[in-house]
Amino acid sequence: MVLFAAEEVAFVVMLKRLFSGILDLVYPSSCFFCEELVEGGDAICDDCFESSLRIKEGFCDVCGEDFEGDFSENPVCPNCYTLSFSFDFAQSALKNTAKNREVVISYKYGKRQYLARVLGRFCSEMLLGEARFSELRDPVLVPVPLHWRRKFSRGFNQAEFLCREISKQTLIPTRVLLRRVRYTTTQTKLSRGERLRNLNGAFSVCGDLEGYRSIIIIDDVFTTGSTSEECAKLLRKEFPKVENIVVVTVLRG
Ligand SMILES: [Zn+2]
Ligand SMILES: [Zn+2]
Repeated sequence: MVLFAAEEVAFVVMLKRLFSGILDLVYPSSCFFCEELVEGGDAICDDCFESSLRIKEGFCDVCGEDFEGDFSENPVCPNCYTLSFSFDFAQSALKNTAKNREVVISYKYGKRQYLARVLGRFCSEMLLGEARFSELRDPVLVPVPLHWRRKFSRGFNQAEFLCREISKQTLIPTRVLLRRVRYTTTQTKLSRGERLRNLNGAFSVCGDLEGYRSIIIIDDVFTTGSTSEECAKLLRKEFPKVENIVVVTVLRG
């Protein structure tokens, strides 16, 4: 009987360990940056959340890049003088710092899907705090799609998970309007022109706008803007009555 009780306790302990192990995989109880214990299943503690560097002022009105310059006259970066985009503007929540890159890379490539919630918080804070987002009429979030092969190897589409969290936090609905029909090689080493050529015909429209009037394209990183541009170009062509198309990303690459 004593032996039975001991076995029972051991079994319960094992179950508890297994369960907390699974929980830790989903929601680790320590902060991603400082390893402080975090209550409530958040991936980043309040201090690290607050101290993560945002792009709040001194950024390009068009592409969201933070740059040094005179903002009183024309808040457009030198790059955007010579480019035209199919979206109205793009804005990223976080500055391109080593710390911010670390959390985004870990989310995207490290199979840490649970980071979507906190990364979504950075985007939601920006969407709810900036006038030019609250001026958008009947907005809907649209995730940048992944080709199924990449989604399969990565395990998830990082933009879709971000949309899900941002929808919860801002109550702006999400609609999957785009899919990736052509597999493209990685873009990281390509120039903007090469990226645009590489993406030509990579997407198609797979849904209806259903009366929404503004589209907010969601992705993890904005680098040259070529992916957002290709998505926006296609959405404008397919939905000519759309009032605004803007882009929101977690990080400015
Ligand atoms: Zn922390
Ligand atoms: Zn710019």
